[in-house]
Amino acid sequence: MSVPEQVLDDIRAAVGPKGWTADPDAVAPHLAERRGLWRGECAMVVNPATTDEVARVVGICNQAGVAVVPQGGNTGLVGGGVPQGGVVLSMKRLNRVRDVDPVNFTLTAEAGCVLADVQRAADAAERLFPLSLGAEGSCQIGGNLSTNAGGVQVLRYGNARELVLGLEVVLPDGRVWDGLRGLRKDNTGYHLKHLFIGAEGTLGVITAAVLKLFPRPTWRETAMAALPSAEAALKLFERAQNEAADGLTAFEFLSRRCMEIATAHVPGVADPFKSPHPYYALMELSGFGGADGRRQLRRTAEAILAAALDQGAVEDAVIAESAAQAKALWRIREAVPEGQPALGASIKHDVAVPVSMVPEFLARASAAVESAITGVRVVAFGHLGDGNLHFNLSQPAGADEKAFMAERERINRLVHDIVAGMNGSFSAEHGIGLLKRDELTRYKPAAEVALMRTLKNALDPKNIMNPGKVL
Ligand SMILES: Cc1cc2nc3c(=O)[nH]c(=O)nc-3n(C[C@H](O)[C@H](O)[C@H](O)COP(=O)(O)OP(=O)(O)OC[C@H]3O[C@@H](n4cnc5c(N)ncnc54)[C@H](O)[C@@H]3O)c2cc1C
Repeated sequence: MSVPEQVLDDIRAAVGPKGWTADPDAVAPHLAERRGLWRGECAMVVNPATTDEVARVVGICNQAGVAVVPQGGNTGLVGGGVPQGGVVLSMKRLNRVRDVDPVNFTLTAEAGCVLADVQRAADAAERLFPLSLGAEGSCQIGGNLSTNAGGVQVLRYGNARELVLGLEVVLPDGRVWDGLRGLRKDNTGYHLKHLFIGAEGTLGVITAAVLKLFPRPTWRETAMAALPSAEAALKLFERAQNEAADGLTAFEFLSRRCMEIATAHVPGVADPFKSPHPYYALMELSGFGGADGRRQLRRTAEAILAAALDQGAVEDAVIAESAAQAKALWRIREAVPEGQPALGASIKHDVAVPVSMVPEFLARASAAVESAITGVRVVAFGHLGDGNLHFNLSQPAGADEKAFMAERERINRLVHDIVAGMNGSFSAEHGIGLLKRDELTRYKPAAEVALMRTLKNALDPKNIMNPGKVL
């Protein structure tokens, strides 16, 4: 549906000349998403610089029934930011850190702040903002909260949802809800912030947030362990959790095929072990204090690995001796999704099951897909400590890409049915967007979907906020 010229005029007047563009070259990146699955359309991209401007634009669109599609860094992986008409609301000019309170351990950031800038602002105050993910150099805090992003430290610090104390939101009718409270205790009715976190822009526009900060660890130990099986990974994880407790800040997992992909297809990535092993775990421990703290952390890491070696749960292990070596170990993990396209087309799953069921899921899902498509290559890696696996499938070597991708629906059903049977999630990190709408209605209880629709209708009766996404 085209947007009436009067509405566009009103928006232009509300945000001024720097606050909008309809130049096709400037608009084009806002219509695309990185997997190339959809191409969107919109009447203009609006770049408001203040909450008040966001409120005015949303108010104008509400009056006219025009769709508003919020966009952060546009790094989302489910098509949630792809416009299907209306206007794109790009948050990039709303990028001030409004306040850092090191005593309250809080930082108040506008939605358009890039995640890495928020991490830096916390670091400058000798505090930690622990949200960390591959896209942190370009994704924005508003996008992170709207997708309830996960990343590599969920195990210790939780998802984005757990890192928020207060929110400022422009509601679908253009009113501003000022919930920017930095309180640890506040039992004054419904916790409305949770409605907007993870809503993927369908219930309102997040314009600012009070974020939780944490003490900044002084020391880190990064280790990679070579493992005989997925069950062994679980044994090592259990031991590390028990011995390091909150000091265990990351526990990632990858298969031999992932190691081969990373080392063969991404320049500068090297296998730290002399011989191949079926699986690998990447473990990070964080600690505090002076030299004693450092020695204690090293002793804990060594003790965990030594006991697991004795138990047969670990075949070999390396502990990074420098920051550069730690970075090289992390690089292996990050390089897996970067290298996977070298194997051709892929069907991807972002699933969660209870941590204790990860090996069973892996065995059952691998057997199911390998018998469904001869030669399919399972590329399984992810955040084992959260029970979250990226269960990706690369096409058989030399197969036809289109024919392989035509199997996507059948394969999704096999994998997601197994996940559902384990009371798991078919979308652990990336959300629903356009990609997983059908799965939402298929796998969520009907009452839950109905409740979601009731909330959407109550808050946004004209369905202007990111229509067609999630529900
Ligand atoms: C290399 C790479 C690694 C990644 N790793 C992870 C990972 O480890 N964990 C993880 O969870 N995700 C990961 N992602 C996915 C993605 O980075 C996250 O979903 C991220 O939180 C999206 O932020 P964004 O600013 O790019 O949001 P966008 O992609 O711009 O938007 C995402 C959704 O949020 C909505 N939205 C954006 N801003 C606002 C706002 N201010 N108010 C209301 N709605 C808004 C959009 O409409 C859209 O529905 C990764 C992506 C890449 C490319």
